[in-house]
Amino acid sequence: MTDPLGVTRAGSPWPRASTRGLAVLGWPVRHSLSPVMHNAALQAQELDLAYLALPVPPERLLDVVGVLGTVGFVGANVTVPHKQAVMEACDRLTDEARLIGAVNTLHWDGDATDGGLTGDNTDAVGLYRALEQAEVAAGPAVLLGTGGAARAAVVALARRGAPVTVVGRRPDAAAGVAEVGARAGAAVSSCGLDDPHLDELVRDAVLVVNATPVGMGDESLPAPFMSLGTDQTAYDLIYAPPDTPFLQAAVAGGAAAHHGLSMLVHQAAVAYERWTGHRAPMAVMTAAAEDALAAT
Ligand code: NAP
Repeated sequence: MTDPLGVTRAGSPWPRASTRGLAVLGWPVRHSLSPVMHNAALQAQELDLAYLALPVPPERLLDVVGVLGTVGFVGANVTVPHKQAVMEACDRLTDEARLIGAVNTLHWDGDATDGGLTGDNTDAVGLYRALEQAEVAAGPAVLLGTGGAARAAVVALARRGAPVTVVGRRPDAAAGVAEVGARAGAAVSSCGLDDPHLDELVRDAVLVVNATPVGMGDESLPAPFMSLGTDQTAYDLIYAPPDTPFLQAAVAGGAAAHHGLSMLVHQAAVAYERWTGHRAPMAVMTAAAEDALAAT
């Protein structure tokens, strides 16, 4: 790849006066694995960029984004709770950000003060690539959740070409997420958690994806999601802990099970390549994220 930003550096020390910034903006943000992943990659490729975690209160988001552009930041990730609010700060949105209705990646074009801020979303590509990497078989998918992550996940699942059913405790919200998936070009339906056919739907799915925070504690998903069997794959967007009750039950039933770290690394890699013009060192980023996760 080329080096359009001229960010390749030689020697040490680093960071130094010429070093430009990358960041993740969240509230809270101290738990984020993004700094370790990106800094490991930047260090491995000797690029003159450094990545920080910035805790940004919601009421200061637009100010902070403006300041980062002024002082020459190259890009940023955006996480909870800012993914929708930050759209207002962008001069342009990619088709992907428009489709998902949220931005997780910012990129300032050119020099510091030209004002060209693009908002993108790399979460759907991240999940799509994670499922490809895991060699998940093609076939019907069930997606649980109707929040921001579900809107990206449904796009990834729709692009796999097989039918998708979105399940939510609020059927109207599930229908809204299904509409996003349908715009990505697949047959996407929806239902509520109390749907009488839910057992059957989950049993017939090749892939079942959890896009809710249920499982970050000891809480289990509703019963139909806890009895997957052979020839099925469970993917949990949660990666901390890596062994949620959903994934433990899947493994016990003979299903394949994957936690969300692969999605996190793949979405980060897409952003990294956009910012740096360099191919992301996937092995370095994965190892850094796994080490940081193991240390928590
Ligand atoms: P969110 O916007 O807050 O949405 C959460 C969703 O979960 C909502 O649909 C909510 O339903 C549903 N939910 C919560 N508790 C539930 C319960 N007891 N039963 C059924 N549904 C329940 O969160 P998000 O941003 O979409 O994130 C969801 C999860 O994905 C989080 O754990 C996040 O860490 C993870 N994530 C991972 C990655 C990755 O790269 N691996 C990326 C993004 C997010 P209601 O709307 O009805 O409340």
